[in-house]
Amino acid sequence: ATPTALMVGTGRGAQIGVVIKGPEVLEQTRQVTTIVLDKTGTITEGRMAVSALVPAEGVSEDELLRLAAAAEDASEHPIARAVAGEGRDRLGRLPAVESFTARAGLGVEAVVDGHAVVVGRPSFLADWAIPLPDPVAREADRLEASGNTVVAVASDGRLAGLVAVADRVKPTSAGAIARLRDLGLTPILLTGDNERAARAVAEEVGIDRVLAGVLPQDKAAEIARLQQAGEVVAMVGDGVNDAPALARADLGLSIGTGTDVAIEASDLTLVSGDLNAAADAIRLSRRTLATIK
Ligand code: ADP
Ligand code: MG
Repeated sequence: ATPTALMVGTGRGAQIGVVIKGPEVLEQTRQVTTIVLDKTGTITEGRMAVSALVPAEGVSEDELLRLAAAAEDASEHPIARAVAGEGRDRLGRLPAVESFTARAGLGVEAVVDGHAVVVGRPSFLADWAIPLPDPVAREADRLEASGNTVVAVASDGRLAGLVAVADRVKPTSAGAIARLRDLGLTPILLTGDNERAARAVAEEVGIDRVLAGVLPQDKAAEIARLQQAGEVVAMVGDGVNDAPALARADLGLSIGTGTDVAIEASDLTLVSGDLNAAADAIRLSRRTLATIK
């Protein structure tokens, strides 16, 4: 392919809402066989809202929310934004926090009013030897099966309760994924979220293959495994935790409304975050390069 013809394709990219890092990217775009999509912020809006509060025995809803919201206040994670926002809306000012630590893909730790608070995925609390009693675990299962993400909250080593958050699938995602399939690509959902919530979203947008519960540092290894199986892999993601996978993929696509780290690690940016732009880019690259030959 001649550089000039590729530049024409790059210019067309801007018109369909994609920013392409360099002309050579179109060649990779054309060859993709599998497209791996992050869930939160990529297939979904990434604007979560609190959908349920399940306080443990002897704890009030407000107390549960106060601890969780204060601990999450300093975190940029979409779950944290939802929990802190709900706390401020319902309770006004949140208590000050000392020694905040974020654990990527797991949760947060902080000292709130002198109490050691942990908020995160239930398995993260299990690492702290804080298991969920059976009735609470059943409630968590029920909430996850209906598409919620459930985080557990503990204070001084005791369970304070569960907070469920839910996100909306982007109205354009299902249609775009159908188009990617029509282009012959296999879509795969890759997420750090739990299997049940991941399946609920996958079903809604027409994806059969789900890789759930994947820690941020393992996302790139999942891409490598697909490559070893002979696939040419595109990865679409928005978060800091997607950056290594975006870099590892044959073609990295970032969401324009996502984090700078993800955008820098990618080859191509979907400006508005509409996944249709990914299908448009693949069609464009095939047409551009067919014209040249
Ligand atoms: P995704 O791959 O969907 O973008 P992440 O890897 O960021 O998800 O997070 C995976 C899981 O880790 C979340 O579903 C949640 O259970 C937990 N988690 C991560 N960060 C936080 C946080 N700040 N507060 C509570 N839970 C969190
Ligand atoms: Mg994400």
